[in-house]
Amino acid sequence: KQSRTNDIRTENSPLQIFVKAKKKINDIFLEIDDYVDDTVRFIDSLKDDHKIIAQEEVQKVEAYKDKVQGIRYVLKRDHMKVAFFGRTSNGKSTVINAMLRDKILPSGIGHTTNCFLQVEGSDGEEPYLITEGSDIKQPVQSVGQLGHALCKEKLCESNLVRIFWPKSKCLLLRDDVVFVDSPGVDVTPNLDEWIDKHCLDADVFVLVANAESTLMLAEKNFFHKVSTKLSKPNIFILNNRWDASASEPEFLDELDEQKEVRAQHQDRAVDFLARELRVYNTKDAEERVFFVSAKETLQARLKEQKGESAHSGALAEGFQNRYFEFQDFERKFEECISKSAVKTKFEQHTQRGKHISTEIRQTLNEILDRTQKMKAEQMNAQKEVRDKLNFTEQQLILLTQEMKDKIHRMVEDVEQRVSKALNE
Ligand code: GDP
Repeated sequence: KQSRTNDIRTENSPLQIFVKAKKKINDIFLEIDDYVDDTVRFIDSLKDDHKIIAQEEVQKVEAYKDKVQGIRYVLKRDHMKVAFFGRTSNGKSTVINAMLRDKILPSGIGHTTNCFLQVEGSDGEEPYLITEGSDIKQPVQSVGQLGHALCKEKLCESNLVRIFWPKSKCLLLRDDVVFVDSPGVDVTPNLDEWIDKHCLDADVFVLVANAESTLMLAEKNFFHKVSTKLSKPNIFILNNRWDASASEPEFLDELDEQKEVRAQHQDRAVDFLARELRVYNTKDAEERVFFVSAKETLQARLKEQKGESAHSGALAEGFQNRYFEFQDFERKFEECISKSAVKTKFEQHTQRGKHISTEIRQTLNEILDRTQKMKAEQMNAQKEVRDKLNFTEQQLILLTQEMKDKIHRMVEDVEQRVSKALNE
């Protein structure tokens, strides 16, 4: 039943836009690869023949082979990347765990993320990690052990640790989403290095804010910097820990207060996205702000996996709304990342693929034109020879006739003379 539910989820997921586009563009490049291969083989076979093909043409087409292979290599590895930022302890790791439906990243006091952590899917069944500058696969048995492994490594804050988690355990990883957790933006980061190293190829940024306080300057500064380096980055703002703010409104005025707090956070977040960063208009910015509880969502999902009700993971009143809002965020996030990744990752490759096939077709057309011209020239030359032969033949016929007549006449003449001499 679980696998059927997963299948339905996979079919309906907006991530399929990317997954299907990736499959298609990989198939197309396989065809282009075959096409280039055929062309190289064909041109090679004609190389020494009657100077039909110039050496530069052979080299040009052979160079496309390497280019196509290079693109295919990149395409196979292309993924959708989402990066999470925010102050320490706002719940970045918990949000990622909730989305992955598993406790993968260590979270909580003593487990401050002190470097960049990237979670990506692997084909094997055992999780492992690779630290920056090394290619040793370190096995990861548990979250605790992962936390420990990260602590004992001497890692600099902008270093990257890649965690490979079995795709079979998580749909998002299977669909090629890669998650990046960052150290808190409050840890005096070297923003330029962070952005250059980890953000330039990110399709979506998620700012994990704390619903119990307002957006901090450190958080805002980071995104100001991002939007100077990337044109119109896709940003979502999660007001996390909404369970704490929304806790048990016993009286009507408490409920009103809660609504007011929400409206204030919402206005400030929209203002930040639309007026300060200018990445969205006000209406679109409203669609990018969510009030969630990552901890609760994760708990609910873990309970559900055990066959218990999601509600048994609730932390406070109003669970259902927060749970729906988290799912709503995920849906919009999936749509956004999928479309953005198709555009940023595949558009350029599509142009290159078109360029290569057009260039090859043009080269083949030039060769075809040239051979047709050569054939016509040969036919002309042959015609001249034929005409000459015909003429010679005619001449010969005429000549032979003339000779015959001449000899005949000579013979007659000789005969006459002989008989005349005899008579005399
Ligand atoms: P990070 O430093 O931003 O990665 O934050 P963590 O994910 O490590 O979370 C810090 C602490 O906040 C942990 O103890 C989490 O359990 C807790 N936490 C995270 N999200 C929530 C939430 O939505 N509600 C509550 N009540 N606690 C949360």
